[in-house]
Amino acid sequence: MRRRLALLFAAAVAFVSGCETVPVSGRSQLILVSDKEISALAAGEFSKMKKAPGDPRLAKIREIGLKVVAAARPDDRAGVLPPAARWEFAIIDDKAPNAFAMPGGKIGFNTGMFAFTPTDDDIAVILGHEVAHVLCRHGAERVSQAMMMTASVIIADQATRNKSESTRNAWMVALPAVAQVGVMLPYSRAHESESDKLGLFFMARAGYNPEAAPAFWTRFAAKGGSKTPEFLSTHPSDSTRIANLRAWMPQAKAQMPRKP
Ligand SMILES: [Zn+2]
Repeated sequence: MRRRLALLFAAAVAFVSGCETVPVSGRSQLILVSDKEISALAAGEFSKMKKAPGDPRLAKIREIGLKVVAAARPDDRAGVLPPAARWEFAIIDDKAPNAFAMPGGKIGFNTGMFAFTPTDDDIAVILGHEVAHVLCRHGAERVSQAMMMTASVIIADQATRNKSESTRNAWMVALPAVAQVGVMLPYSRAHESESDKLGLFFMARAGYNPEAAPAFWTRFAAKGGSKTPEFLSTHPSDSTRIANLRAWMPQAKAQMPRKP
C-alpha cells in the first residue's frame, strides 16, 4: 500500500507540473483527465437527459450557439473546441431556469430558461457563458479536483492508521469539507467569473449586444433564478457579477463587428 501511495504522489506531482493555462485569464489549472476521456464520459451523461427534440426553439439555440462558437475560436489556442458539426445542442425538458455545457461540446438549455431570454441577445448571454466553460475546460478541471479530493482522503486514511479512532474520524469528516471550501469553492467561483468575461466577449464578437448580459443577470437575480443548480452556492454574488460585467463592457464593445 505504501508503494501505491508513493506512486500516487509521484503521479500527482507529475500532473501538477504539467499544469494547463486558462485562455485570457492566464490562471493555471490542474487537469488529470484527457479531453477524449472526459468527452466520452459527458456524452454518456448527455444521452440520458430528458430532451425536447421537437421543440421549435432548438434551431434558434443551435444557430446562436454556433455563431458564438465561431467567435470563440480565436481564443482556442489549445484546440479544445470541437468542429462545428460535432457540437450538440439540446432543449432539456426541465422547468428550472438553467443551462449547462459539457466537455466535448454538449450544451443543454432548459425549457424553464426561456422565460428569462426573450431576445436573441439574451440567449447569446447564456450560450456565450456556456461555450466559455467548454473552452476553459472547466468540466475536466472539476473532475480532476474531485479526483484529488478522493486521493487526499485515501492518503489521510493511511497517515492516521495508528492514531485513535476519534482522531481518525475527525480527519475523515473534516477532509472533504476542507477540500470543498478551500479548493472547490474558489475554483468554481473562478470558473463562473472566467466564463462571464469570455462569454461577454464571444457574444459581442458574434454581433450580439453585450449590454444584455448585466440586464439578464439583474432580471435573473430579481426573480430568484440564481438559486438554481448551475449557479448555486458557488456563483459570484449577483452584485459582484453585474459589477464585473459592467467593468468589462468597454472591452467587449470594442470587439463588436463594425456596422457596414
Ligand atoms: Zn457557469
